[in-house]
Amino acid sequence: MHSRRDFLKTAALVTLGSGVAGSNLWAGGREGGHAALFNINRVSGESPRMKLRFFPYELKLKHVFTVATYSRSTTPDVQVELEYDGLVGYGEASMPPYLQKELGSVESVMAFLRKVQEGIGRFADPFQLEDILAYIDGLSEGNAAAKAAVDIALHDLVGKLLQAPWYKIWGLDRSKAPSTTFTIGIDTPEIVRQKTKECAGQFNILKVKLGSDHDKQLIETIRSVTQLPIAVDANQGWNDKHLALDMIHWLKEQGVVMVEQPMPKERLDDIAWITQHSPLPVFADESVQRLKDIPALKGAFSGINIKLMKCTGMREAWKMLTLARALDMKVMVGCMTETSCAISAAAQLSPAVDFADLDGSLLIANDRFKGMEVVKGKITLPERPGIGVVKL
Ligand SMILES: [Mg+2]
Repeated sequence: MHSRRDFLKTAALVTLGSGVAGSNLWAGGREGGHAALFNINRVSGESPRMKLRFFPYELKLKHVFTVATYSRSTTPDVQVELEYDGLVGYGEASMPPYLQKELGSVESVMAFLRKVQEGIGRFADPFQLEDILAYIDGLSEGNAAAKAAVDIALHDLVGKLLQAPWYKIWGLDRSKAPSTTFTIGIDTPEIVRQKTKECAGQFNILKVKLGSDHDKQLIETIRSVTQLPIAVDANQGWNDKHLALDMIHWLKEQGVVMVEQPMPKERLDDIAWITQHSPLPVFADESVQRLKDIPALKGAFSGINIKLMKCTGMREAWKMLTLARALDMKVMVGCMTETSCAISAAAQLSPAVDFADLDGSLLIANDRFKGMEVVKGKITLPERPGIGVVKL
């Protein structure tokens, strides 16, 4: 078993061209990489094949989640396991109901995963990431969350085979991971004050969803309790660009540090005008889904919000980050309500981003994993391989 795994690891590092993680092996480091190079034939038995398993897993929210238009206490979710040669990679699809059109439902995710289950055996090993994920992407349009679930499991598996976490494979320094924002929900002033007090000692930056008639009151209520920096998400809620810009100037005076999606996603000219005049960086969320969307946003936004469930997973997320940087744009990484599985996958990118909004697993009562942890408000990545999770 192990000789083949070592060979695959070495061969994969060559094909991935990953000088960072590969250097250990070429130096004859751990696991005796050189010897493995010559051990090309599997000692006995058939070649292993990847096997996909999945099941629905409803996420229970600790508190009823309320935004401007609705409330809910659960999130539909599907858990994925990808097995190869005795190792298991974990993945997850989370589908908040308000994003059902983009992300799908439990039924549509399960139907898509059945197709992947039938087809994935054609690939010789998990290191053919690019080909495997292109094949999966081509199975049908949409299905971003289902695709992300397989992508995350595949990355976890590859990282475990390489015995390295993804932040290392990507060449990132985990000590540079930022603090995560924590969202203070819309509520009565008394409850907002109380929640803010609870959070002020645990987090270094708060997030607030604006776009109602009480925006200023909400910010003032938080400011009556804490001076922590605040990230603001307007969720497309402002309709007049002049009022939006006035609001952003006011928010800047209140210690707000960034604004997400000030206006409806299709109004790029108005958003570009706001961004040009804004004293705060303006990030795209609803306006961006995947890699191909980014070039058109250059000039309209200062940066993009990358979410694994929307962009089909870690491989595309890394490409998005690279493209955004090449276009001199800022990057944040966000999430849905998810277990520590998808959150820890997204957190692997976090040392390379300007803002991280990875509080999703803190909001659920039935997490299945231990992974990325928030320590004194900061994202703290485990050194474990792959996406760094262990099942609870
Ligand atoms: Mg948003």
